[in-house]
This record gives sequence, C-alpha cells and structure tokens, in this order.
Amino acid sequence: MVLTPTPVMNLEQPVTLQDLPVAVRRKVSIVVPCHNESEAIPELHTALLGLFAQLSAYDFEVICVDDGSSDDTLLQLVTLARRDRRFHVIELSRNFGKESALTAGLNEATGDAVIPFDADLQDPPELIPRMIEEWAAGAEVVLARRVDRTQDGFLKRKSAELFYQFHEKLSTISLPENVGDFRLIDRIVVDVLKQLPEHHRFMKGLFAWVGFRTVTLDYKRNARARGTTKFSGWKLWNFAIEGFTSFSTAPLKFWSYVGILGALTTLLYALVVVLRTLIYGVDVPGYASLLVAILFIGSLQLISVGVLGEYIGRIYMEAKNRPVYVIRKRY
Ligand code: UDP
Ligand code: MG
Repeated sequence: MVLTPTPVMNLEQPVTLQDLPVAVRRKVSIVVPCHNESEAIPELHTALLGLFAQLSAYDFEVICVDDGSSDDTLLQLVTLARRDRRFHVIELSRNFGKESALTAGLNEATGDAVIPFDADLQDPPELIPRMIEEWAAGAEVVLARRVDRTQDGFLKRKSAELFYQFHEKLSTISLPENVGDFRLIDRIVVDVLKQLPEHHRFMKGLFAWVGFRTVTLDYKRNARARGTTKFSGWKLWNFAIEGFTSFSTAPLKFWSYVGILGALTTLLYALVVVLRTLIYGVDVPGYASLLVAILFIGSLQLISVGVLGEYIGRIYMEAKNRPVYVIRKRY
C-alpha cells in the first residue's frame, strides 16, 4: 500500500481574499409590495428591466407581493411572471398592510441580498447599482437616506421630523432619520430578521435593531410616478404609535412619575388643609377646588389606562400567535 502525504498548507504565505474560490454569480432579490398599483406596474417593469440589463454580472429575481389589491394589479403581475421567469408573485389572501407584505416578500426571497422596493418608483432604481457596489465591497446593510423630502407635504415632513425626535428620546434603538424601507440587506441580515418572532412588525425598527455593518447613501426622493399614496394621516399616526410601542416602554414608565409627583403634591395640600382646619375651624366652601381635583386626576387616570391598553392590546395580539400574513397562491 502506498501512502501519499496529505498536502500541507503553506503557512508562511498569508491567504488573501483572491485565493478563495470565486463565488458563483450572486443573486439579488427585489421585493415589491403592491397594493392597488395597477397604474404603476408598467413603468416599474420597464425600470427593472433597464436595471437588470445594466447589472448583467448579477442574477435577479423580483418578488411582487400582491397585498389584497382590488384593481387588476394581480392580473398584471401574473402576466409579468408568466412572461419573465425572474418575476414571482405572492398573492396574499387580503390586505395585510405594507409591513406584512414586506415580511412575506423577505421570507420568500432567495437572493444573496434583498432590496425592498416601492412599486410607485419613489425609490430611484438608479441607486441600486451603487448599493450593490457597496455590498460587493463588504457592506451588509446599505441604507438609502432621503436628503430632500420636498415631494412630501409640509405636514408629513414636520410630523416625520417630530416622530424621529421623540423616538430618539424614548426608545432603546436609534432609527436612522429619513430612511425608509428602501435599502439593501445581505442574506445574513435577512436570516436574522426572519428569526425575529414578533408579529407586530415595525420593519424600520427591526432593520435598525439587528445592526450589522452599515453604509448610508444619500438620494433625492422622487414624486410618486402613478397612482396615489396608500398612507392616510390616520394610518401614519397608528404607524407612529407602533414605532413607539415596539421599541420603548417609556410611555409606561412615564405614568409612575406622574403618579409620584401627584401623590407628593396631594400630601402637601393635605397638610395645608388639615392645619388650616385645626387653626381656623371647619371650612365649608371648597366645591370648585374639589371638582377640579377630581376631574383632573380622573382624566390622568384615563390617559394612563389608555397607554396601558396600547401595550396590553399588543401583548394580546402577540399571544394569539397568528401568522403575519396568509398566502392565497404563488405564481
Ligand atoms: N403598500 C402595500 N400595502 C398597503 C399599503 C401600501 O403593500 O396596505 C405598498 C404600496 O403598494 C407601495 C408601498 O407599499 O408599493 C408604499 O406605499 P405608498 O407609496 O402608498 O406610501 P408612501 O410612499 O406614500 O409613504
Ligand atoms: Mg410611495
């Protein structure tokens, strides 16, 4: 029997990245949540095709999530998927909201990197080559920051600004300002996100929570190409509450301090009342101060119960452990 010596690694020569086997072509998944976007889809398709032609060194797949559209969005998406094998369609059983649609897309994506992308082309596709460049250079998360929000109304900009300020103060994570869901995330980040068990999915917060090596690119946000925004003022308000309650318990703690302050003030006032009664005898008037005190404390209690309710409601929903979305069919 002849024994051949096992090859020994030459330890004197340092191993460089070039020595490692070159990976096969890498695949990028683009996840597009669509809710009544039939007017926007033809342009979206053209823009994406242009992008694929430009980035021919990469493979692409597009995961379109139809989030319970009532127009012919689904039909258009399915037609695309039939013609072009890079396009895949996930049809949800009803409208679950953008966060859920995005979660569905992330779960279905198979690429080495995933880019959530709005159907209305408000996220400029021109930025994607730069994102991929940063990713190839080693970034695990490439954020796209809007430098100019003049396309959004005054109220939307101001309220967004306030939201970020409050969030920074109240919560344990820091949300990068003016960064939406448009970003590139590496497969390792996607896998971590998929493991997060919560059902209330405030994606911006979850993205920030997982961390990883992050690079930020600046861009100018376009106006909506077609169709109208799906986020009304009320929806945005609820979205903001979601943002606070998902990552902060400060609103809960706040009421303990209000309580302590109230109790101390009451104690002082009680002393004054007792002393005054002892010195000057029984004091009958006091109707106004009594009423004001009762009403004021009563409202405070209602507000604090309301805040408790926000959290308990969330605990209740999480405890039910229902899925984040339901898929009717894949195309
Ligand atoms: N969207 C969704 N489900 C919803 C609402 C919106 O999938 O319930 C999608 C919508 O089709 C779009 C993206 O989320 O692709 C962003 O929505 P929109 O442009 O209306 O938001 P805005 O840009 O005004 O914040
Ligand atoms: Mg939009």
